[in-house]
Amino acid sequence: MLTIDGSHGEGGGQILRTALALSLVTGTPFRIEKIRAGRKKPGLARQHLTAVQAAAKIGRARVTGASLASMEITFIPGSITPDEYRFTVGTAGSTTLVLQTVLPALLTAAGPSSLTLEGGTHNPFAPPFDFLEKCFLPLLNRMGPRVVAVLNRPGFYPAGGGRFEVTVAPSGELARLDLCERGGIRRRFAAALVAGLPRHIAEREIALVRRGMGLERSQVEVVELPADRGPGNVVSIEIESERITEVFTGFGQRGVRAEVVAQRTVEAAQRYVAADVPVGEHLADQLLIPLALAGGGSFKTLPLTPHTRTNAEILQKFLDIEVSSEPCSESGWLVQVGRR
Ligand code: AMP
Repeated sequence: MLTIDGSHGEGGGQILRTALALSLVTGTPFRIEKIRAGRKKPGLARQHLTAVQAAAKIGRARVTGASLASMEITFIPGSITPDEYRFTVGTAGSTTLVLQTVLPALLTAAGPSSLTLEGGTHNPFAPPFDFLEKCFLPLLNRMGPRVVAVLNRPGFYPAGGGRFEVTVAPSGELARLDLCERGGIRRRFAAALVAGLPRHIAEREIALVRRGMGLERSQVEVVELPADRGPGNVVSIEIESERITEVFTGFGQRGVRAEVVAQRTVEAAQRYVAADVPVGEHLADQLLIPLALAGGGSFKTLPLTPHTRTNAEILQKFLDIEVSSEPCSESGWLVQVGRR
């Protein structure tokens, strides 16, 4: 049985999710210790527990230690079973991170599946639904499968109550993916959304984003959702290039001015545009698993985050895969994934 130190490297929930995903796909049992040991509230939070339970259900796995705040679990996978599944994160925990855990298994399953995921859909420190829909899934679909996600209702921290549905049609082998050129920028678009909060928050964010990115009125949108969906505030900037669409997201937070939320998002988008690479820093860590399952691929990205480095280490424990990275320009890195 593989033993994983959950406090290693980035030391967060991602080590657990990647281990679960790859354990399912490879049939490798594992034990993970010191789960999120360095975090303020160590161990399994509701969202991680839901991910463990979802992985166990889809992979007919035997699990010990799956309880709130647990810092150690063992996971013995059975067979991946395509089916209709519903997973509810009992708080506003991120549903997209639950999907991140089980999607690799469903991509390699013998038949199609559908998932209903309930909880938060636009959480800080997690892929927001729009990123999934516009950036991540289109790239995955280029590798062969057909994965479609539909948002029924957004859910924000702390109230939650969001829901989205995903259908997964696997394609057998995944094709390798190479994303080394971005191509010309074809479209830029920004949206600021408020739910149960004053409209002026979104308007101030959009004013700042327009100035920062040089966008016309036709390239921006203010979205006001019914108050009962909130409180929530998200600002997103979409950069559509010939080969890829990237999405940068800022999350409104009590005590942080709308201008600051917008400015941080603009800076992330500008850093990406200036680096002239196709893959943003969040996408980089998330692409590693599909590329590894395909047996190879490559991309150019911004300097690697601890998430990306740690994910690369974990997946090399489960798969006969090597991940290498080297600087390729002033602020660009080339990441290559291949068989050992
Ligand atoms: P962890 O911090 O270990 O729970 O992992 C967070 C995951 O969410 C990583 O895969 C990040 O790349 C991803 N993530 C965090 N923020 C964003 C964002 N704004 N857009 C897309 N993905 C994100």
